[in-house]
Amino acid sequence: MAKEKKAVEKEYTVEEKLRSLYRLQTIVTDIDKIKTLRGELPLEVQDLEDEVAGLETRYQNYQTEIKDYENAVVTQKAKIKESTGLVEKYKTQLDNVRNNREFDNLSKEIEFQGLEVEFADKKIKEFTEAIVTKKEEIIHCKELLEGRKADLVQKKSELDEIVSETKQEEEKLREKAKKVEDTIEPRLLTAFKRIRKGARNGLAVVCIQRDACGGCFNKIPPQKQMDIKLHKKIIVCEYCGRIMVDQEIADEIGK
Ligand SMILES: [Zn+2]
Repeated sequence: MAKEKKAVEKEYTVEEKLRSLYRLQTIVTDIDKIKTLRGELPLEVQDLEDEVAGLETRYQNYQTEIKDYENAVVTQKAKIKESTGLVEKYKTQLDNVRNNREFDNLSKEIEFQGLEVEFADKKIKEFTEAIVTKKEEIIHCKELLEGRKADLVQKKSELDEIVSETKQEEEKLREKAKKVEDTIEPRLLTAFKRIRKGARNGLAVVCIQRDACGGCFNKIPPQKQMDIKLHKKIIVCEYCGRIMVDQEIADEIGK
């Protein structure tokens, strides 16, 4: 964009610059009014979208966790089956032991497998309890998610309605603003945007009203008012930093 500007770059007088700045201000103020109309809706929609996405992730995580616990239960059950099988096998072998050592070894094995079964039982109990808890959480999460989704649909339709009502108007204003911006030198445009950003009411360029700055309402000394009227210099308010124009320029643009 910067390159394109070079081609059309031309020298503007300070008066022309002031006019462009004031014109741009009136256009962006109109865009601001549309935004005010939309109010907090875009933010609310954004917040809800974030919340819904977060809840969906949480919901999926719960499902994965439940699946993991269920798989773990299956594994522990298989272990029990294996250990129980071994115990049976060792018990039949006990009937045919040839010496004390064999008897002791088999008894130890039987005891060990018994402990394995106990341990697996404990694990299954733990995992089953965890599944119950997760399932309760998932129900709560689902309720929350459905509620937020419904809120989102509602807010979004409200926003869509307002946007569609004002869309054309906003687009026209944005095009107009773009055209005016292209006639303003980048340095000045940056300053305009910076001042505007810092100004509570979005006003970067203000008209003198009753000998006072139209932005912060502090009195402007007569000499400074004279300088502003001459259109020879871009003058900013010493209190709020806004660019000031006189009534003449404001009236011209207002037409
Ligand atoms: Zn001021």
